[in-house]
Amino acid sequence: MLTRSSTFLDPLERPKNFIDNIGYERTADFGSPFFEVLKMNEKLKEQICRAEETFWENPSLLPYGEAREKLRFQQKDIKEAADRLKRFAPLILKLFPETEKEKGMIESPLREIEATREEIHHRIGIQSVGAERLLLKCDSHLAIAGSVKARGGIYEVLKHTEEIAFQNNFLKPGDDYAKLEQYKSFFSDYTIQVGSTGNLGMSIGIMSAALGYHAVVHMSMDAKNWKKQLLRSKGVIVREYQTDYSKAVEEGRRQSDRDPKSYFIDDEHSADLYLGYAVAGERLMKQLASMDIEVSAENPLYVYLPCGVGGAPGGITFGLKECFGDHVHCYFVEPTQAPCMLVGLASGEGENACVQDYGLTGKTEADGLAVPRPSGLVAKEMCHLVSGEATVSDSKLYDYMRLLKEKEDFIIEPSACAAFEGYCRLLKEKGTQKGTHILWATGGSLMPNDVIQEYLRK
Ligand SMILES: *Cc1c(COP(=O)(O)O)cnc(C)c1O
Repeated sequence: MLTRSSTFLDPLERPKNFIDNIGYERTADFGSPFFEVLKMNEKLKEQICRAEETFWENPSLLPYGEAREKLRFQQKDIKEAADRLKRFAPLILKLFPETEKEKGMIESPLREIEATREEIHHRIGIQSVGAERLLLKCDSHLAIAGSVKARGGIYEVLKHTEEIAFQNNFLKPGDDYAKLEQYKSFFSDYTIQVGSTGNLGMSIGIMSAALGYHAVVHMSMDAKNWKKQLLRSKGVIVREYQTDYSKAVEEGRRQSDRDPKSYFIDDEHSADLYLGYAVAGERLMKQLASMDIEVSAENPLYVYLPCGVGGAPGGITFGLKECFGDHVHCYFVEPTQAPCMLVGLASGEGENACVQDYGLTGKTEADGLAVPRPSGLVAKEMCHLVSGEATVSDSKLYDYMRLLKEKEDFIIEPSACAAFEGYCRLLKEKGTQKGTHILWATGGSLMPNDVIQEYLRK
């Protein structure tokens, strides 16, 4: 049964500042800090400004029972997203036969990487005591988009599609969504646009094009050439900017707002992206159960998530907290030159914080994380949920990439390798932590071979 929220609006009638179905307005949070403004620890500030690797523990972390009351979203919002993805599975299966094994559900394997764990312990000089396990969540190999963006990005395109289909009466509750395939020429009248450093554009571009939409991706200067080429080969319009991510988003938003039949997927404010990512929590819980891995006070879960604007790691953290509460500890990892969520959270200024204000360039080889300003929506949701953050220098990402290739014969992209630093840094700061540790590998399976070889030589 489809549930429509009370703020359901015709996309064509949405006011320009309409952002999501939960009533959040883009302008509402600007101008004033959204939670307690914190005095940033001087040593932390210095390290950030000098682009040194740092480790931050969140002083505002709350027991989940308490934090939960302050959140904007609830379990029912995640469930709505999960149900919607189920309704769309028959259509996904039809459009992307590679999802056959999962019956049109887009999900990734969870695998143990024991040899990598041993090598990391050896390098750091820690005695392995067998009290912990290290797993890799392979979102790098999610179908269709080859990155974590296959969760949020595809979800938002589907949600928008469902709205249009219901409005035009070619879909009603209970229908088999596979029939939407016949409406490609109808959808070709509509445009979907997005600003991206690469992977979000790929997930939204590929999915939009497959449904028949006219798709436009506004790429920041950080975007890799192969990602632009791949999109163009699928008929997606790629607009290139010599500016950073926030500027590319701004320009995309402006162009989209001029066209009443255009829908802009707004990574800096989107509740739909966030909730699409959050569905990962319950899926992971089932995977852990099927591997007989218990999550409890005695055997907690530690999750390390590469962070850009915050939607993906934030949504996943929310989903995991709903499943495991205080038994899961989520750490974000960002590049030393672009730690936007760290400055947003540690200063308490959220989206008003910007890495350039700390004298940083915002430039990084980790294209998926090259974001100067965090999502205000996500920063606000995360301020009591995230356990901490680590930052990592670009050069280390290639070392981690080689390590994984050597020990597991598995390739992920540099941005995704940031997850390793969270685990390594925690080990160095606190020693072995009994429990299950998960590196969230956020992307990489679509990388062309010559690009992989170049990275492995760096
Ligand atoms: C986008 C991305 C992230 C981070 O997601 P955000 O929602 O931007 O925080 C991490 N890794 C990769 C490979 C990505 O593409």
